[in-house]
Amino acid sequence: MLPNHSPWIKQLKRTRPVVPLDKNVSSDVVIVGGGIAGVTTAFFTLRNTNKTVILIEANKIAHGATGHNAGQIASYFERPLSDLVEKFGVKLAIDGQRSIESAWILLDQIVAEAKLQTPLYRFTGYAGLSKFDQVVLHLKNNRYRTDHGLIPESIILADHWDRLADIPKEFKDLYSLATQKDLLQLLETNNVDYIACLSYQKGCMNSALFSEELIGYLIATYNDRFTFYEGSPVTTVRLKGSKASLEVLTYVVETEQVVLCTNGFENFSILNELGVDIDTEFHHSVSGRIGYMSGYIEPLNNPPTAISYFPKTDQYSADPTGENYFYLTRRPHEHEGKNSYNLVCAGGPEKVLPNGAVYLSEDTYSEDARFLIDEFMRSNYDKHPKETEYSFCWHGLMGYTPNGIRLIGPEPCNPTLLYNLGCNGVGILPSIFGGMHISRFLNNEKVEQSIFDPHDQRSENQPPR
Ligand SMILES: Cc1cc2nc3c(=O)[nH]c(=O)nc-3n(C[C@H](O)[C@H](O)[C@H](O)COP(=O)(O)OP(=O)(O)OC[C@H]3O[C@@H](n4cnc5c(N)ncnc54)[C@H](O)[C@@H]3O)c2cc1C
Repeated sequence: MLPNHSPWIKQLKRTRPVVPLDKNVSSDVVIVGGGIAGVTTAFFTLRNTNKTVILIEANKIAHGATGHNAGQIASYFERPLSDLVEKFGVKLAIDGQRSIESAWILLDQIVAEAKLQTPLYRFTGYAGLSKFDQVVLHLKNNRYRTDHGLIPESIILADHWDRLADIPKEFKDLYSLATQKDLLQLLETNNVDYIACLSYQKGCMNSALFSEELIGYLIATYNDRFTFYEGSPVTTVRLKGSKASLEVLTYVVETEQVVLCTNGFENFSILNELGVDIDTEFHHSVSGRIGYMSGYIEPLNNPPTAISYFPKTDQYSADPTGENYFYLTRRPHEHEGKNSYNLVCAGGPEKVLPNGAVYLSEDTYSEDARFLIDEFMRSNYDKHPKETEYSFCWHGLMGYTPNGIRLIGPEPCNPTLLYNLGCNGVGILPSIFGGMHISRFLNNEKVEQSIFDPHDQRSENQPPR
């Protein structure tokens, strides 16, 4: 029986005591949830407005998905750009993609202003494709990227591939050719199923350490306007016209605006005293998936990287409804007090959390997931050691919104409530962008329409906003 053991939580080396709410309090803004979304929302709200802010965390800062992810900084949606264009139209889709990519600059801004020491590695990341349809899909996405001013992904195809002639003519300018040997080298694999390699800017960081360090900065910098409480689950959010009150432990927190940064749904109720039911729709609108990761330590012989593999077979799928791809990251990692090691992490298997089921972080790790990851790594990653001792095996909860896009903005039925949630698999950059975007709403700026706008869940056909 393996415990849920994350390398990111282990690196926190926390000494700060948990301080739960111990009285009734009030502030202009209350942020619920202390993952990377809540902490960066607090950062931008404090930085860009003069409001007082209380952050309330049920457990400890960064112990949710933020402390149990792959730590890969990536700017894609887990939904193809061409799909987003179909759903939202070209302008909104491209603007949405650009917004996520802009979060790289926001991340740099946070690191520079708060003088954070959390290591952040930046490099070209790769993805290996093995099927014709996958290649055409990425070429189609690239067409949108080049035609609308986004930096295209580099796409290399194997020059001997027998489907080259079938690629539609309109995509000819969007890829280059190389020997399969060169392509496999980039993907660090000997698996000849891969006939295409994508590359794009990626990075790695421990998002839990980042959030923990950022909280330290906020406490030191805004001690007159910022308070936060851990070990303080919110049980009820009561919306009363232009004010709200939250029930936390045995206390009440009064506020002008509440921002939910809870990843998805958790155990609390939203009571909208303006009349319209938000609670039922909100809880139905985010569904859960558990993601599984394994990691091992190796000597520091290879540079940091992030590689995704889209295999030909679906034999590695833990759940038929989950994504069938695996990804690895490799980055320097302090181990036994020394800096001469890498941590190699791999993930891919996901399980759908049935509606109404409760996810417990303390649950043991799935042996099936470890087996799948190990099998996958053996047949795909050419540097995988023969004998692998996984020092870390961990799982985390991802909240998925119905359209796969993070919800960022005010609730249409009552704008006293705002959201920056819905991790949808890739959430580090979207959370950071979300934090900045929320600060614009809180500042009463005129905010342009976006794919992230929460819409009225009661009407399926209603356009965003
Ligand atoms: C296995 C896995 C791999 C992933 N890999 C990547 C990756 O490589 N790259 C990437 O970009 N993203 C990845 N993600 C997604 C990414 O980790 C998340 O999107 C991001 O961390 C979400 O941050 P968050 O702050 O929204 O949520 P969380 O970190 O989950 O924070 C939400 C917080 O809200 C608190 N909370 C909930 N309910 C209440 C309540 N009622 N009262 C008070 N507090 C409450 C929780 O305790 C929690 O701390 C991965 C996620 C998982 C699970």
